[in-house]
Amino acid sequence: MFRKALEQVVTYEAGKPIELVMREYGIKQEDVIKLGSNENPYGSSPKVIQSLQESAHKAYLYPDDSMYELKNALASRFNVRSEEIIIGAGSDQILEFCMQALEHKNARVIMAKTTFAMYEVYARLAGVEICKTPSDGHNLDEFLSLYNANRGEKDYKRVSAVFLCVPNNPLGECLDTQDVEEFIKKLDRDTLVIIDGAYQEYAAFKDKKKAFNPADLIKKFENVIYLGTFSKVYGLGGMRVGYGIASKGIIAMLYKVRPPFNVSTLSLQAALVSLEDSAFIEQCIQSNASEMLRYEAMARDNALAFIPSYANFITLSSPRIESTHLAQWLLARGLIVRNLASYGLNALRITIGTPSQNTRVFELIQTYLGLSN
Ligand SMILES: *Cc1c(COP(=O)(O)O)cnc(C)c1O
Repeated sequence: MFRKALEQVVTYEAGKPIELVMREYGIKQEDVIKLGSNENPYGSSPKVIQSLQESAHKAYLYPDDSMYELKNALASRFNVRSEEIIIGAGSDQILEFCMQALEHKNARVIMAKTTFAMYEVYARLAGVEICKTPSDGHNLDEFLSLYNANRGEKDYKRVSAVFLCVPNNPLGECLDTQDVEEFIKKLDRDTLVIIDGAYQEYAAFKDKKKAFNPADLIKKFENVIYLGTFSKVYGLGGMRVGYGIASKGIIAMLYKVRPPFNVSTLSLQAALVSLEDSAFIEQCIQSNASEMLRYEAMARDNALAFIPSYANFITLSSPRIESTHLAQWLLARGLIVRNLASYGLNALRITIGTPSQNTRVFELIQTYLGLSN
């Protein structure tokens, strides 16, 4: 009855919700700390909340399907044209559109071994073959040799898409823009390069070499799509808004697989208002950077290994720790983090929280380490 391809699809394990911890451990809502899904710990901009309250009566209206205002605002933010933008229910939906639109006959897609789990899910749903690099994070030499493997052979499989996650979730490392551009030059023009910038705002602040400019990219490469989201620093994970920026030709193709009204009226409005509150965003980015330093110091003090992160999370590990046990132990104390066992790693990914949340995280981790000594 069901498609063969579904046998290979692993159901995505989403970050745990606050309600689950309240239900299962009887912890009060205000005592739960949610640092498992890389949301903005400061919430949404107060301007967004006010605007949503004032607009609640618009819930009965279908959204403007042209998404005129948000597209215009994004176009001027990124210095591109409206026809070069598509908006989705999260950038997840744009990933899905890409996979649905591509030709997969005798083709495959390439991604890093440990990267955003939804790439694999959408690729499998589309029935495409997946190739992963040997290294966990992004190694462009490995990408290139996978790309070139059996090129020219009789049963040669064309690579229809390459996924680059900059910075990479769940590891936190980030490629340099220059290296990525050199890499793209070596690919055929009919390979779609998906540059996922879900955490770009954080990376660009930390290191200009990691700051991807979508306008530049699409001017140089007609086969690139840049993805951004309102779910992370913009604090709108629950509203589901993301966007893709690419040449007019790519966007026109993706529009063919887009269902009408794919982003809700209030979500479009929230995204628009959040874009305007740059002071709020700036503050969140700065706080993330200074709190990240506290995490690094805590990791060093406790002999935990960490990967220098360009995002709003940090990945910690230690041979002394069993991540599944620690994640469970923390959960029972009201702290939600992301166990990376489902990625095959003995590590935890923790979203950088507010200063007081982070202090609590450090206390809990130190208590745990003390117990297991
Ligand atoms: C969070 C995230 C996204 C997109 O999330 P949406 O909520 O669907 O916009 C995309 N890529 C990565 C790597 C992410 O971490």
